[in-house]
Amino acid sequence: MGAVIFDLHTHTTASDGALTPAELIQFAAGQNVDCLAITDHDTLHGYEQLDFQKIAGLKLVVGLELSTSWQGHGIHIIGLNVDRSNATLKNGITSQQDARKSRAATIAMRLQKTGIDDPLPAVLKIAGKSIIGRPHFAQHLVDIGHAKDISSAFRKTLGNGKMGDVKQCWEALPEIVAWIRAAGGTAVLAHPAKYGMTWTKLGALIEDFAGAGGQAIEVVSGSQEQKITKKLARLSNEFELAASCGSDFHQASSWSAPGKFPPLPDSVTKVWDLW
Ligand code: AMP
Ligand code: MN
Ligand code: MN
Ligand code: MN
Repeated sequence: MGAVIFDLHTHTTASDGALTPAELIQFAAGQNVDCLAITDHDTLHGYEQLDFQKIAGLKLVVGLELSTSWQGHGIHIIGLNVDRSNATLKNGITSQQDARKSRAATIAMRLQKTGIDDPLPAVLKIAGKSIIGRPHFAQHLVDIGHAKDISSAFRKTLGNGKMGDVKQCWEALPEIVAWIRAAGGTAVLAHPAKYGMTWTKLGALIEDFAGAGGQAIEVVSGSQEQKITKKLARLSNEFELAASCGSDFHQASSWSAPGKFPPLPDSVTKVWDLW
């Protein structure tokens, strides 16, 4: 038997992924994933759609990806192995979802100022029952011919520092970590290399995250460059945090498939060894 494959960061139709939770589980099991966390943005709703008795082929870890802002950056914190019935976490999720709704209205208003017709009705329709986010705005910008594809919609309009990048609405980092810990979960800093920070700034973020009770960082995120993985492994050891790994899978075209990423370096403490 080969090594056990953990994929601890994935998305479904409960947020901005393409597959339903049941479809994702089946797909991941087919990719030889042994242990999967579904980590939708600011929701645990995907888990309500699952019959836990019928899950076959892999072990499921209950998780989610919470948004926060830190020093003007939009940051994502993964909670793993959380108790879904915990009241503190449930209340936190409700307030994040309210923030997402008012944020969507703010994004819509900002886009209107650039001459785009009110996008909100169409975007709400695209999102449907899913937790609304910038990818749904990106889809609309493609639909109306304002961007040629999703990635150019982010590059031009919705990405870091652009007009549609609204991040002031999120709860602060210590609260987000506290909700996860209150629910018995492990708090993991998601994709540290994707925030466009200098290594010095990232070190300051990790220090604050650890100070707030954060326990791990994603040392391997999708198909990131090996030299970044090495640097993140060093940071995880330097700050005495465990290491996690995940594809951040949303859909087949533009993300790594579940479980399809290099293994964690030997030097780090694996997040699952904390469990
Ligand atoms: P939000 O949750 O509304 O802040 O949107 C963040 C999500 O947008 C991420 O989780 C990704 O799914 C998606 N995203 C961010 N940047 C890009 C990009 N450059 N291309 C495609 N999707 C992106
Ligand atoms: Mn996403
Ligand atoms: Mn993320
Ligand atoms: Mn994600």
